Amino acid sequence: MPEPKTEDLRRTIREAGLRATPARVATLNLLHGATSPLTHADVAEHLAERGIDKATAYRNLNDMTDAGLLRRTELGDHVWRFEPVGEGEHAHATHPHFVCVDCGRVSCLNGIKLTEKSLTASRQIGEVTEILLRGHCKICT
Ligand SMILES: [Zn+2]
Ligand SMILES: [Zn+2]
Repeated sequence: MPEPKTEDLRRTIREAGLRATPARVATLNLLHGATSPLTHADVAEHLAERGIDKATAYRNLNDMTDAGLLRRTELGDHVWRFEPVGEGEHAHATHPHFVCVDCGRVSCLNGIKLTEKSLTASRQIGEVTEILLRGHCKICT
């Protein structure tokens, strides 16, 4: 994903119906620059360097998720992770994620999709909210 400019981020936030505060712009910028979804703690730690307190960081993540700018994902470890909703992506239709069972590293698998046939088959069972692949990442193998 190419790194968006601050002005673009501000516009994106405003278009979602939120005020483009410096904390929100910084949050979105951080998540766009990340190669994997980040936890509350990851984001709060980063924003603390800019003098933004933890409570504000948390509130902004939730507000921006509600506004459809971010997607919240839970990968089986009961930790919420956040990532920007990509261009042309639906807020609720996520790409699969890969979780390393050794180091816990989470990676986005942007190019991988369920086929129509698989989607139809999975709808027989229920609504898929998360596709998760587990294994050993390249660093751990
Ligand atoms: Zn690993
Ligand atoms: Zn992802």
